[in-house]
Amino acid sequence: MTDVSRRSVIGTALAGGAAVGLGAGSVTPAAAQPVESGGRPSFGDVQPALRGDTLPSFRFPLGEAKTMTYRGGSTVQEATVEVFPVSEEMAGALLTMPPGALRELHWHANAAEWAYVISGQARITILNPFGHSQTIDFGPGDVWYFPRGFGHSIQAIGSEPCNFVLIFDNGFAPAELTFSSTDWLGHTPAEVLAQTFGVPASRFEGFPKEQVFLTAGPVPGPLPATPAPGSLRSGAYTHRYQLLAQAPTRYAGGHLRIVSEREFPISETITGALLTIGKGGLREPHWHPNAVEWQYYISGRARMTVFASGGRARTEEFGPGDVGYVPRGYGHYIENIGDGDLEIVLGFNNGTYESIELTGWFASNTKELLATNFGVPAATFDGFPDAPVVIAGPRA
Ligand code: MN
Ligand code: MN
Repeated sequence: MTDVSRRSVIGTALAGGAAVGLGAGSVTPAAAQPVESGGRPSFGDVQPALRGDTLPSFRFPLGEAKTMTYRGGSTVQEATVEVFPVSEEMAGALLTMPPGALRELHWHANAAEWAYVISGQARITILNPFGHSQTIDFGPGDVWYFPRGFGHSIQAIGSEPCNFVLIFDNGFAPAELTFSSTDWLGHTPAEVLAQTFGVPASRFEGFPKEQVFLTAGPVPGPLPATPAPGSLRSGAYTHRYQLLAQAPTRYAGGHLRIVSEREFPISETITGALLTIGKGGLREPHWHPNAVEWQYYISGRARMTVFASGGRARTEEFGPGDVGYVPRGYGHYIENIGDGDLEIVLGFNNGTYESIELTGWFASNTKELLATNFGVPAATFDGFPDAPVVIAGPRA
């Protein structure tokens, strides 16, 4: 079916009124009458990449993506909507920074930033618009969240490179609207800076003229265990959450750690999760009503299927370094097809975590309704779970 004919079929189904939600899927092209535009729902709600009969890839091999290398050996790989067309609402990046490397003072005008530290250590500084600031150290398994527009820096500390995955709640970040301190000062007259800081203009002679982005320097010393009186200007909420340290929720086939606004109050626009599926396990079919899902595969082998309505579904395999993306409300499930645990970092563009599982949906309906729904005897549903399975164990 072409995009145009699909549109007219759906338009007819909606125009049918009574049919909506009650088997509109049975409308055939032969019965279709073109519907003129005029306030009816249309494919305008669906991003272009998802309108066709052929679905785009929901996988982007971030680990094999173009690598940008900076002074001191830091590297950045990005998954923006430009290279991963389906990922309109979220973007991500993989950074590796040797000790002392500094991601300079900057802010993002169009996105909040969420991160998961995979290995090594980092120190962040952050200033919010209310004058509160924080300097905090992060280690493996820790998460940070910077609200949109807050000024921040990231420096690798310790003795080994720091490797972390960044997630943004906008598919166009971080390629657009990242405002760097060196870029700004390099394009501001020294007289203005002199007046601003109350020092001679000559002080700014050695400053870079263009954006530095990532640079290198000495590893800073440890933070004081007991801050000196009067030395802190922290706000009410911390920017660090120790996700890996969280006691996980265990299921038959694996376990899940979730960090939403409930666990991490400053994280208003992003929920993160660490999903571990044991060998042969299955993250059961489910969907998220309020968010898209952005995935970074840390270890193991996976097969994910995304159900996109209209008889369309796509199955792809994922491994370490791969990024996955599930549009808001799209059905999906993930199978562990490897020899060991499958570990995935998940990001959702909503501070509230919402999920509906297929097993929970069945459990909330009577066998009689399910029997009518699927045209099979009610006894078919004997022994089905009475609560969501979430992560199923290996096949019998
Ligand atoms: Mn940033
Ligand atoms: Mn999901």
